[in-house]
Amino acid sequence: MSISNRLTTIASIIPLNVRLVAVSKTKPIEYILEAYSTGHRAFGENKVQEMVEKHAALPKDIEWHLIGHLQKNKVKYIASFVSLIHGVDSFSTLKEINKQAIKHKRIIPCLLQIKIAQETNKFGFSFEDASELIDSKRLKELTNVDIVGLMGMATFTENQQQLQKEFSSLKSFFDTTKFDVLSMGMSGDYSLAIQEGSTMVRVGTAIFGSRNTPIKETFLNKT
Ligand SMILES: *Cc1c(COP(=O)(O)O)cnc(C)c1O
Repeated sequence: MSISNRLTTIASIIPLNVRLVAVSKTKPIEYILEAYSTGHRAFGENKVQEMVEKHAALPKDIEWHLIGHLQKNKVKYIASFVSLIHGVDSFSTLKEINKQAIKHKRIIPCLLQIKIAQETNKFGFSFEDASELIDSKRLKELTNVDIVGLMGMATFTENQQQLQKEFSSLKSFFDTTKFDVLSMGMSGDYSLAIQEGSTMVRVGTAIFGSRNTPIKETFLNKT
C-alpha cells in the first residue's frame, strides 16, 4: 500500500472528533508531499532542526506539530511557525515559549506532557505537578502560551491491559481539566487510545513505514 492509501485508510477509520497527526520524522520531503496530496495538513516532527528544514521546504499551509522533547534553547527556531507543541514538560520551557511567542506577536498552543509510562526515559509532569501548574498564578502570567490540552506516551509494550490502564489514567486526569485536546496513541496503540478517550493521535510508522532506527533510539524521544 502507498503512503496516501495508508493515510486515507487510517483517517477514515478514526472517529470524526479525533485528529490525526502524521508523524513524518526521519522521512523525506517527498513522503510528506504524497501525504499532503491527499489533503492532509497536520504533520509531527520530534527534532527541531529537522522540522525547521522541512517547514522551509514545504507548502506553508502545513500545520507543524512538535511532538518530541523540546529543549529551551531551541524554542526560538520554531516559535514563528509551530502550530502545536505537544511535549512541554517544565515551567521553564513554557516561560521560554512565552517569551518567543511575544517576540513573534503570536500565541503558541501547547500541551503539557504527562508521564504515564513506567519507563524512566520518558519525559513529563506527574499528575500532581501538572495539576498544581494548571491552577497556578505563574501560568496565568504567561500571556502568549495557550495550554489547550495534555499529551502522554504509554509504555512501549504489547500488554494491552497495561496500555489501557495508562491511557485511562490520563483520560481521568484530563476530565478534571477544561482542556480540549488529549494527545495519546501512536501506530501500535491508537485504537486503544481512542477507545480510552484520545482526541488526537500521532501516527508515524503505520503511515510512512518503519524508520530504520533502533527501536530504543526512537523511543528515547530526543530533540
Ligand atoms: C515517533 C513518535 C510517534 C509516532 O510513532 P509511531 O509508532 O511511528 O506511530 C508518536 N509520538 C511521539 C512522541 C513520537 O516520538
